[in-house]
Amino acid sequence: MNKEQARIQLDIEDTPKEYVNLLPHLKNPLPPPINPATEEPVSPDALLALFPGECVKQEISTENTIPVPEEVREILMRSGRPTPLQRAIGLERALKTPCRIYYKREDVSPTGSHKLNTAAAQAYYAQKEGIERMATETGAGQWGSAVSLACAYFGLEAMVYMVRISYQQKQYRGTLMRTYGAKVVPSPSDLTEFGRKINEEHPDHPGTLGIAISEALEDTINHENTKYTLGSVLNFVLLHQSVIGQETIAQLDSVDETPDYVIGCVGGGSNFAGLAYPFIASKRYPDTKFIAAEPTACPSLTKGTYRYDFGDTAGLTPKLKMYTLGADFTPPKIHAGGLRYHGVAPSVSALVLEGRITPYAYNQIDVLNAGVLFAKSEGIVPAPESAHAIKAAIDIALEAKEKNQSSTIVFNLSGHGHFDMAAYGALMDGTLNGDTPELTPLVM
Ligand SMILES: *Cc1c(COP(=O)(O)O)cnc(C)c1O
Repeated sequence: MNKEQARIQLDIEDTPKEYVNLLPHLKNPLPPPINPATEEPVSPDALLALFPGECVKQEISTENTIPVPEEVREILMRSGRPTPLQRAIGLERALKTPCRIYYKREDVSPTGSHKLNTAAAQAYYAQKEGIERMATETGAGQWGSAVSLACAYFGLEAMVYMVRISYQQKQYRGTLMRTYGAKVVPSPSDLTEFGRKINEEHPDHPGTLGIAISEALEDTINHENTKYTLGSVLNFVLLHQSVIGQETIAQLDSVDETPDYVIGCVGGGSNFAGLAYPFIASKRYPDTKFIAAEPTACPSLTKGTYRYDFGDTAGLTPKLKMYTLGADFTPPKIHAGGLRYHGVAPSVSALVLEGRITPYAYNQIDVLNAGVLFAKSEGIVPAPESAHAIKAAIDIALEAKEKNQSSTIVFNLSGHGHFDMAAYGALMDGTLNGDTPELTPLVM
């Protein structure tokens, strides 16, 4: 082993200057979002009430690349980009596999996940357009943390509606957001009409992501100079994450590696797309297999249907064509909170339909056991979400070993699990559920 193989580090100046857009590389144009009342395509103008103009432009852009604003690039560089690509030598040895396994370290971001990549861009575009305040929802808290820091960087006020049960169970996530200067309230809150209505009817409601989204949207519409910010699913969010895959390509090139497998976990699809899309767009990887790892408890890609559906539970958003379990599907309360979304980004869905991406589903006990093996062999406690990608990588590496194949496997370590120790504690105490959807309460 030489040191380059152990951790492949790019120069800070190699932080990508462009975002790579997947849309021009799809076999068929993406079906447009539709207005649920008329079933007609929504005009981009309708989105301008919610999102910065630049994001709306990017949402429908078919340019191959879009420049990363220098102000955003600077934030990315100050926040750990380019992130290391690390060779999982300890994991390879533990598995006794002939495969070479690499992982992209999005856990090194100050907020602990890939989400700052798009939060910083969205906050920047909003600030440039004269916006002073951003509203959003958060479930597990990773998105809220990224928005809070991005707003602090650009001098914006952040208003975060955090699902009440998470607010109580993941207190430190809320505290982190407040440390960055955000206002955080448990949702349902008394700050919106929708929240007040639910609180009147159900005083101890634990909240859901759907309710929190509805509150953030209502807040946005009712406040001057406020925009809404979203952490996954939309094209522009996936676009901002493409810095991950571009760096990974440069890092693999520097050690003459071509991946046989590129793997990411999928909630709404942003960290997976961020890693995979630059490979798919480049055409240099016709034989690479792209694996999307999801929970069996919320199996949008493996068990969902491809159709138009609402993006949120309350039915406030336009309908998107995607693999979905139904907007009213309540996923069981698994620890990978970031993967409990009923749908998947329209572009990821289209690529699954085309056969370019292969989805696999894993249950949370197997996933967290994979996370423990990774922690023991690599030292990093992965986010339960990221552990889905690790589980897929381990299975592929073991299968290759059986066949005596030495494959090159790359996965995205989308985040660390330092705020998720309760999940690992439950695993070790033997109190963790597999996934029994019918037994699980209605909370996100
Ligand atoms: C939010 C989150 C995810 C899931 O969201 P995607 O948009 O599918 O990437 C995965 N991993 C981590 C660490 C997250 O914070």
